[in-house]
Amino acid sequence: MGICIKCGTKTEKLYDSLCINCFRNELSKLKIKIPKTIEIKQCRVCKKYLIGNKYIDDIEKAIKNQLEKIFSKEENLVSFSFEIFSNKIIVYYQKEKYEIKAFGKIELNLRIKEFVCPICQRKLGKEFNSIVQLRGKNLEKIVEEIKKIVEKKKRKDSFISKIEKVKNGYDLYFFSKSIAKQVVNYLRRKYKVEIKFSRKLYGLKNGKKFYKDTIAVRFYE
Ligand SMILES: [Zn+2]
Ligand SMILES: [Zn+2]
Repeated sequence: MGICIKCGTKTEKLYDSLCINCFRNELSKLKIKIPKTIEIKQCRVCKKYLIGNKYIDDIEKAIKNQLEKIFSKEENLVSFSFEIFSNKIIVYYQKEKYEIKAFGKIELNLRIKEFVCPICQRKLGKEFNSIVQLRGKNLEKIVEEIKKIVEKKKRKDSFISKIEKVKNGYDLYFFSKSIAKQVVNYLRRKYKVEIKFSRKLYGLKNGKKFYKDTIAVRFYE
């Protein structure tokens, strides 16, 4: 005979000083720290999901992979399964110790974070249509600012294909002319700058003359 240290019940058998009910109840709780939100990165262009350094098509696999990483640290876990709702995941799990089974479930938020994968960036980047030339001093902060603005646009073509450090500044290559223009307009509003626009005939595209733009932005202190 023993007494459960939690509820005081007298019982034949104790499991880690607990009666079977208290033990099962304790066992059903997860001991590891579970993040509230599962974040999955998805390429805006090819729609693939990024897992580690691999790209896969299946969101279920992507989520399973993330959950496996988290749940593998839980002791006495036997198995888990999950259901996906639009922005939620419910995980059902089973644990077992001393041949006693316990079940539980947990609700997590699901967030799909969009980005443009390097493969798509490279593919689309070959076709740059605008170069924004930043000229002046201490432009590193401005380059970082521009990266953030471009990322926020959440468009298929909102990315910088290439950033090149040149002698007196940076050259930023854009696939999208309109994104490049939006960036320049932002800089015009926020900083004291002089802007020079030029375009070069680049050949024909679908029977139309095709131009590439160069926008030089000079910063004054
Ligand atoms: Zn008890
Ligand atoms: Zn992609």
